[in-house]
Amino acid sequence: MEQHDCLIIGSGPAGYTAAIYASRADLNPIMYVGLQPGGQLTTTTEVDNFPGYPEGTDGNAMMDDLKKQAERFGTDVRWGMVTEVDFANKAGDYHTLTIDGETKIQAKTVIISTGATAKYLGLPSEEKFMGFGVSACAVCDGFFYKGQEVVVVGAGDTAAEEATYLAKICPKVTLLVRRDQMRASKAMQNRVLNTNNIEIKWNTETVEIQGGQSVETVVVKNTLTGEIENIAASGFFVAIGHKPNTDIFKGILDMDETGYLTPTLGKTATNKPGVFAAGDVADKVYRQAVTAAGTGCMAALESERYLSEFH
Ligand code: FAD
Repeated sequence: MEQHDCLIIGSGPAGYTAAIYASRADLNPIMYVGLQPGGQLTTTTEVDNFPGYPEGTDGNAMMDDLKKQAERFGTDVRWGMVTEVDFANKAGDYHTLTIDGETKIQAKTVIISTGATAKYLGLPSEEKFMGFGVSACAVCDGFFYKGQEVVVVGAGDTAAEEATYLAKICPKVTLLVRRDQMRASKAMQNRVLNTNNIEIKWNTETVEIQGGQSVETVVVKNTLTGEIENIAASGFFVAIGHKPNTDIFKGILDMDETGYLTPTLGKTATNKPGVFAAGDVADKVYRQAVTAAGTGCMAALESERYLSEFH
């Protein structure tokens, strides 16, 4: 079985920043990228708030840069999902991880940076049209709806981002907001409000999605008046938040009621020795690339200090 000092799960800003620090400290980290190489930022074209990019940057380009930087110092970036973990209880012992349900690999420290995944409404019709008009990623799928009318559901930053992205390629975007206000940051709200072809429908819920082979109509209800309305649309973009990717750690690592990992306050150390958590997987407050990168740095430094006790 392969044995390593440091294994990083996930390839978002947290994972790559941990990889840069860990590889520069000669921990020779192995990284498994998971199903979304580059993480959530690969679904956005505009990253305007990451320090060091005065003109902003494209999410994919930024993640490519982070990958190149981590590889320059020797990070071994591998395809694969961690599907099972067996974390040691004794400090200094190896942890055993299973990759893609078959290969076992051991590491003395593990940095978990598995991020978060988009949530769906849970409507049967939403499931029926998944991939046939229903999407949770405007940047991935928006192109297919170029020149067509679309609906976006949600009230946070993700919804605002998806709506403004789609408004650049679609003649009309209807944004369904369940309450009478948005949760998105003021800057994002302003972007939405200043985009002419976005219509916001306040106090509005989705009843169902209708169509033949693909989405044709979104049936919505005004929660105050009960009025039902049919909106013609070929794309239905769900942007209602995220679920932390922690299923494989359930019953093993401490987490809160919504599944976010809960490391020691002010640190990234989890309840298992040598296991650290960084990025959105342990952050339901900020969920930003820069905070994910910051905690990725912390996790690598904590790994290095931990390992120095056992060499
Ligand atoms: P993620 O980026 O979520 O990456 C998680 C990684 O873990 C992925 O590579 C995934 O494949 C991997 N993974 C998961 N499970 C496993 C497993 N079992 N085995 C192996 N790998 C696994 N933030 C900003 O600061 N500025 C912005 O402009 C901005 N725009 C955004 C726009 C959109 C549309 C979205 C969705 C988010 C945006 N964010 C932005 C938020 C930002 O993307 C996240 O805060 C950040 O990506 C979190 O980084 P992370 O490394 O914690 O996790």
